[in-house]
Amino acid sequence: MHTARENVDPAEVAKFDALASRWWDPDGQFRALHDINPLRLDWIRQHAQLAQARVVDIGCGGGILAESMATSGANVIGIDMAEGPLAVARLHQHESDAKVDYRKATAEELAGQEAGSFDVVTCLEMLEHVPDPALVIKSCAELVKPGGHVFFSTINRNPKSFAFAIVGAEYVLKLLPAGTHEYEKFIRPSELDSWARSAGLSLRDSIGMHYNPITAEYSLGGNLDVNYLMYFQRE
Ligand code: SAH
Repeated sequence: MHTARENVDPAEVAKFDALASRWWDPDGQFRALHDINPLRLDWIRQHAQLAQARVVDIGCGGGILAESMATSGANVIGIDMAEGPLAVARLHQHESDAKVDYRKATAEELAGQEAGSFDVVTCLEMLEHVPDPALVIKSCAELVKPGGHVFFSTINRNPKSFAFAIVGAEYVLKLLPAGTHEYEKFIRPSELDSWARSAGLSLRDSIGMHYNPITAEYSLGGNLDVNYLMYFQRE
């Protein structure tokens, strides 16, 4: 069992630290996050009201999703374990006027302090970078209020996802920096659902995210074979 500070892979956090200054460059290494953000924000808003909601974004990085939720009217806390992205996030909010409370913390630490106090918890593109994703999911379940909303996104683990998310995205199309993802850390939807269920979360919806190399556009829908999002509610 990992304790709060331990559920962090220093090599993973270092990868994001090294690229932090590029976080808000729409044509830089985090371009994919910029491109998918309107789609995932829209999906979140279809399921949960953000206006006036108390929201925590786990593994917020430079704040692409956190800022967009704040702009949608939510009171957002963004937590991450990488100092560089947090520093960039704090600076960027002055340019955008989105007010987000950025803190260096793990989900486990925040759950120890503010359990049951959030209407919405988001944890996107983060679970595949931690040693114990089930523990992060448990902490998200602890953070949200009864009846509250929890959103995850990650990458499925199968031969197709290896071909698309690693070979295709990192080496052929170069949508992401090489080495961003490790196949062994990918998570099957059935695994995510069973960890969430054990933590008292009920699956309400899931959706795939797809990239079309011809149009260079992302879309939501269809199968969960590669990238996918899942939406849960706490019992
Ligand atoms: N969720 C953001 C950023 C995804 S990149 C988005 O989708 O736009 C993954 C982020 O998770 C990085 O910023 C990395 O520093 C962070 N991270 C990795 N391990 C973490 C941990 N154990 N606790 C908190 N954040 C972590």
